[in-house]
Amino acid sequence: MTDFSKTRAAFHLPEGVIYLDGNSLGPLPAGVEARARHAIESEWGDMLIRAWNQAGWMAQPKRVGDRIAKLIGAPAGSVVMGDTLSIKVYQALASALELNPERKVVLSDNGNFPTDLYMADGLLRSLGKEHELRVVDPEAVEASIDDTVAVLMLTHVDYRTGRMHDMASLTKKAHDCGALVIWDLAHSAGAMRVDLTGCNADFAVGCTYKYLNGGPGAPAFIHVRPDLQDKVRPALSGWLGHEAPFAFDLDYRPGAGIERMRVGTPPVVQMTMLEAALDIWDEVDLDDLRARSIELSELFIAEVEKQAPQVTIASPRDPQIRGSQVSLKFEHGYAAMQALIARGVIGDFRAPDMMRFGFTPLYIDENDVRQAVEILAGILETRAWDRPEFTKREKVT
Ligand SMILES: *Cc1c(COP(=O)(O)O)cnc(C)c1O
Repeated sequence: MTDFSKTRAAFHLPEGVIYLDGNSLGPLPAGVEARARHAIESEWGDMLIRAWNQAGWMAQPKRVGDRIAKLIGAPAGSVVMGDTLSIKVYQALASALELNPERKVVLSDNGNFPTDLYMADGLLRSLGKEHELRVVDPEAVEASIDDTVAVLMLTHVDYRTGRMHDMASLTKKAHDCGALVIWDLAHSAGAMRVDLTGCNADFAVGCTYKYLNGGPGAPAFIHVRPDLQDKVRPALSGWLGHEAPFAFDLDYRPGAGIERMRVGTPPVVQMTMLEAALDIWDEVDLDDLRARSIELSELFIAEVEKQAPQVTIASPRDPQIRGSQVSLKFEHGYAAMQALIARGVIGDFRAPDMMRFGFTPLYIDENDVRQAVEILAGILETRAWDRPEFTKREKVT
């Protein structure tokens, strides 16, 4: 059994804050600062250029990738770190399209995170081969998979509502129709057990600053199924994905296996922070985590229904098709969220009217949930949100 009081103690959580936004930016794990300092002072500072070999910087993207692989049900050697998730979406889609050259349709849904769709749109335009990005309602995805689809590109858990796609059945249907599948695991990795191998997914991508607590700007990951790795031709053919970067050949030859999905110099300090943040997963059973997450979100929903009639639940009621968050619809959601944050309950807001709350059992418990709802109910009851300072929109919501 995972000891969640122990994991909670492993995070720096400011006094007086109930943090329900770990689905957007995970908090600082206790060991990260010391490891970052070590990387800066002892590695960069003392080893200088030698650290690429001596401190293992060059091997780090794959070493950390292997640890992520365990969390997403992928074999060692199938995940590599680097860049941002937007870039990894682009890479995965470019490679997938090249593996299915006769077809022109990329199928996605309008619950996807906009950057995934933006990156797809940009890629398709620069390919100039009359590809089509077909975006349907999430409920219509399954019926829209047919033998015109080259690539099915979906985010597993909807960032807005927490609605979760059935990864196994959609992957199977796509494969039956001859399409490749890319799963974006931004809101899944570190939130629940994912079984990429069991689903036979072709590609997966995700970020590490949400449920994996790698810190702002932590590098993203990409997974390519082992049997496809030597067939994919990287579109972003940077030197560190080359077979022999230090041969300095003028021609690009892709590296072996997943290494070819590397692009350029990795963010070493940032990746060291992520590597330290991943230590906690050695002590966590993902099934325990998921069970706790469901308990917390069910409690939240039950209490909101009892105490806050002003809002409606925008997330699926069935916890089996809901990720690790609950969203509430409220006309004045932005102001209400600002009022909540002013009282130490931190969630976030997604336009036009969605108040979002993440439930992260590593450091959130039932007390937090009960207290958060009580404070929310008070704000709604007294219209405490109805003040000019709570309506001023910041850049990041
Ligand atoms: C958070 C998130 C992103 C963010 O992309 P970055 O390149 O890391 O800024 C992209 N896609 C999804 C589905 C997300 O949830």
